[in-house]
Amino acid sequence: MKKNVVENFDVVIIGAGIMGSTLASLLSELDDSLKIKIIEKLDQCGLESSDGLNNAGTGHAGNCELNYTPEVNGKVNISKAVSIAEKFEMSLQFWAYLANKYNSIKPEDFISKSPHASFVWREEDIQFLKQRHKLMSKEPIFKKIKYLKSFEEIKKYFPLLIKGRSKHKEVAMTIFEDGTDINFGELTRSLINNLVKQNKLTLSLRETVKSIKRKKDLYTIKTNKGESKTKFLFIAAGGSSISLLQKLKIKSAKGYAGFPISGKWLLCDNPEIIKNHKGKVYSQAEAGAPPMSVPHLDIRKIKNKEYLLFGPFAGFTFRFLKNGSFFDFPKSIKLSNLKELITVCLSNPKLLSYLIKQILSGNSSRMKHLKNFYPLADKKDWKLFDAGQRVQIIKPKNIFSGKLEFGTEIIYGKNKNMAALLGASPGASVSAANMLEIIEKCFLSRNQQYEKKLKKIFPSYGLKLNDNPSKLQKLRSSYRKILKLL
Ligand SMILES: Cc1cc2nc3c(=O)[nH]c(=O)nc-3n(C[C@H](O)[C@H](O)[C@H](O)COP(=O)(O)OP(=O)(O)OC[C@H]3O[C@@H](n4cnc5c(N)ncnc54)[C@H](O)[C@@H]3O)c2cc1C
Repeated sequence: MKKNVVENFDVVIIGAGIMGSTLASLLSELDDSLKIKIIEKLDQCGLESSDGLNNAGTGHAGNCELNYTPEVNGKVNISKAVSIAEKFEMSLQFWAYLANKYNSIKPEDFISKSPHASFVWREEDIQFLKQRHKLMSKEPIFKKIKYLKSFEEIKKYFPLLIKGRSKHKEVAMTIFEDGTDINFGELTRSLINNLVKQNKLTLSLRETVKSIKRKKDLYTIKTNKGESKTKFLFIAAGGSSISLLQKLKIKSAKGYAGFPISGKWLLCDNPEIIKNHKGKVYSQAEAGAPPMSVPHLDIRKIKNKEYLLFGPFAGFTFRFLKNGSFFDFPKSIKLSNLKELITVCLSNPKLLSYLIKQILSGNSSRMKHLKNFYPLADKKDWKLFDAGQRVQIIKPKNIFSGKLEFGTEIIYGKNKNMAALLGASPGASVSAANMLEIIEKCFLSRNQQYEKKLKKIFPSYGLKLNDNPSKLQKLRSSYRKILKLL
C-alpha cells in the first residue's frame, strides 16, 4: 500500500499469528465475499509466539497438563481439563475440514502424533495422579488414558526418565498415546498462504499499526504504510494486543494491564539422546510457580529436524513480543491501570519471588531441574533458547484492586464490531474454539446462513462430545484419519 492511500475492508486483523490466521480462514469459509486484510509488522507470518520453537507445540487437550486439574481441599477437579479437551477437538475438526478441502493444507506439515504423559516422583504427587487418573478414565474424552507405575512400563516409552533413577523411589505416570505435537508457525503460514492463493485475503507484511480510531461504526487503522478502514476489527497482536487495545480506550478494557513473562528452553539436538524419548512428559510445577511454568520434557520436530526441549524457565523482560521494544511494558502503565498493577504485585509475593529466583538462576540450577526428569542429563548436550513472550492479563477485581489472570480473554467492543484477544493459555491449541466464540458473538446474528456452514465445518457444533460418547468415537476417528493421526 502506498503512503496516504486509504483502503476499505469488511474485516481487518492486526497480527498474522495463529489467532489472526484462524479467524481469517473461518470467516472466509463462512462468506467468501468478505474483504479481509491482515496487517503484520514482521516480514513473515507466524514468527512470534506461534512459531515452532517459540512455544512447546503441545496440542493442549487436558491429557497431561497437571495444572488443568487442580486439587482443592484434597479433591481433584477435572472440569477444566474436560473443557479444554472439548475445545481441542474443535481445532482438530477445523484443521481436518480444511485439509480435506484444500490440497495446500497438508496435515503432515504441522501436526503429528506424540504421546502425552504426566510423570511424578513425590509421594503427594503420586496420590494426586492416582486420583486424577481414576476420575479422568471415567470420562469418554479421556477413556484411553493409562496409569503406569513400574520402571519397566515407563522405560518402554521414555528410557531417559528411568536410566540412573534410584529403584527404591516410587514414580508414577499417566499416558495418553493419541496426544499431538503441533507446529503452530507452519499451520499459521499454511492457513494464510491458502487464503492468499485464492485471493481471499489481503496480506500486508512489514506494516506496523501506529494508531486506531473509531468513528461511528468504522475503524481507521493508521500504519507506517498508510490507512485502512474497516467495519470489523480484530486485534490479534499477541503480547502487543494490550498496547493496541489501550489506543482504543474502550470501556470494557478499563483498568487492564499486561504483565510480561518471558520463557527459555533447554534444547538438545543430539540424535542419540533424542531417540530415547517418544513424546511429551509434563510434571508438577514448583511451589509458587505460575501455571504456565509447569516443566516438561518434549520431543519436537521442526522442519524435519528433531529436538528435545525442556522448560519453560520463566524470566522477566519489559518486551511484550520477542521482537518487541524495551518500552512496551513501561509505556503500557497508565493512571487508569496503576492501582491494578500495584495491588497485583503486592498480592502475589510467591509469584514475584519465584520470578526473581528464576531470573537469578544459572545453568546449573536449570540442569538440576532437568535431572529430576532425566537423571543422567549432561550439560554439554543442552543449550539455552529464548521461547516466545507471554503477557499475562491484569484486570480490575473490584474498585480497590486488580487480579492476575493466566488464561485467555476476548474483549469485545460495545457494538460487537471489535474484538481483541489477550493472554496465552491454553493458547494456540484452542484457537478454533476461541475464534468460533468471536464469530458467534459478532457475526452470527448478521447472517442466517453462517450457522448451517458452521455445522459443516465443525461436525460436533452445538454438542458436548464428552456427553455423546458414540458420536465422539465416530467423529474422532474420521477427522483423525484425515489429519493422519491414527
Ligand atoms: C513459552 C511458550 C510456550 C507455549 N506453549 C504452548 C503449547 O504448547 N501449546 C499451545 O497451544 N500454546 C502454547 N503457547 C501459547 C501460544 O504460543 C499462543 O497462544 C499463540 O501462539 C498466540 O498466537 P497469536 O496469534 O495470538 O499471537 P502471535 O503468534 O504472537 O502473533 C501476533 C502477531 O502480531 C504481530 N503484531 C504485533 N503487534 C503488531 C502491530 N502493532 N502491527 C502489526 N502487527 C503486529 C506480531 O508480529 C505477530 O506476528 C505457548 C506460549 C509460550 C510463550
